[in-house]
Amino acid sequence: MEKYSVLVILGEGSFGRVLLVCHKNKNQKYAMKEIRLPKSVFGAEKSWNESLLLAKMKHPNIVAYLESFEDDGHLYIVMEYCDNGDLMQKIKLQKGKLFPEDTILNWFAQICLGLKYIHDKRVLHRDIKSKNIFLTQNGKVKLGDFGSALLLSSPEAYACSYVGTPYYVPPEIWENAPYNNKSDIWSLGCILYELCTLKHPFQANSWKHLILKICKGYYNPLPPHYTYELQYLIKQMFKKNPKNRPSATTILARSCLAKCIRNLASAEEEAKHARSKSCDSETEAMAKGFCEMGLEKAGGDVRRYDENVTRKQWTKEPPETLMNILRNADVSLAFKTYTICKGGSDDLLRGPLTEDIKTSDEPDGEIIMEDAERLEPRSDDEDTDFEADDDPDWVFELKRMTKMESE
Ligand code: ADP
Ligand code: MG
Repeated sequence: MEKYSVLVILGEGSFGRVLLVCHKNKNQKYAMKEIRLPKSVFGAEKSWNESLLLAKMKHPNIVAYLESFEDDGHLYIVMEYCDNGDLMQKIKLQKGKLFPEDTILNWFAQICLGLKYIHDKRVLHRDIKSKNIFLTQNGKVKLGDFGSALLLSSPEAYACSYVGTPYYVPPEIWENAPYNNKSDIWSLGCILYELCTLKHPFQANSWKHLILKICKGYYNPLPPHYTYELQYLIKQMFKKNPKNRPSATTILARSCLAKCIRNLASAEEEAKHARSKSCDSETEAMAKGFCEMGLEKAGGDVRRYDENVTRKQWTKEPPETLMNILRNADVSLAFKTYTICKGGSDDLLRGPLTEDIKTSDEPDGEIIMEDAERLEPRSDDEDTDFEADDDPDWVFELKRMTKMESE
């Protein structure tokens, strides 16, 4: 910690704080996430999850990791400082003035490149929202906040508990069905929609209406001046059946994004040459990773949509029980991050609705299950199966926590 001087607090969350610091020797600014470490060994190990995952991610569109260390009961994660705020701030600053389509596509392509990179590494982000997308002054867009991310333990694994922000959570989570990379794609669709309209696609004045809208997939169309490509992309990402949503690779293969990716790759090449004298191995690896991800794979081996093929339709009704339970809860809380745990735990829902948030001193019930057919390979047609219960067990827990059991 002595290596750094603290300049200002960038943000605060339930985990602790994010500080803007200056590395004294390098004279360089970094963002430093300070996480209160739980006392138990298990809890402390879990807190390291974010740092361990982020350390493995080296890509121009992922917030770069520098180091992490423990000091005085805290875990510190030092990462690249994104000096142009987050996407949510950027959208608010527009004050209703819509972004040009070129800007939208450029930013969206960058987010997709970052997402494709993590999905290829079998990492699910699980909390993609405009507040977790960071911008830099030189036009870079980066996926950050891996505090909810999950590394699938094996190619056959799928995850049972979910961490996410209700406004961005896809229908399958409300239906208590298993999820995978396509749940991130739904949240990515929310981001593209926000970029086009400056509004969230599923606006509601109650949890009930929010969940109803999400599960029905109701959203207002884009302003008419945007091209059909954008409308089409959003429609695909908001397919209620995750199998019918495109993967990040498929999205990147769309012709409207190919031009952006070419421009981004050549800008990266130019930057690399400019840096070449002082270029360290890390930036080189990042540039290389970018070119591999962006150009070769997006244009290469991807699954394309055949619009003539009739796909399976989602037939499930919206989860009435859940909506009834949540009808008195404050909908503004649906912009916060929650953990929804299933099975093996008494503590099934954690987050702002929980009065007494236990800070992970006990196992949180996050279960990885083996299912050979579930996730291998990660392509458009071979994803999630649906095994929704009519009345999932965590609903009862939710009911208890919101003190509405008698109703
Ligand atoms: P959480 O959402 O869990 O509270 P985040 O990692 O998203 O934690 O950080 C919280 C806030 O700190 C962000 O909304 C942003 O304002 C700021 N922040 C986080 N990381 C960075 C970064 N790398 N560069 C600039 N600001 C950051
Ligand atoms: Mg965040």
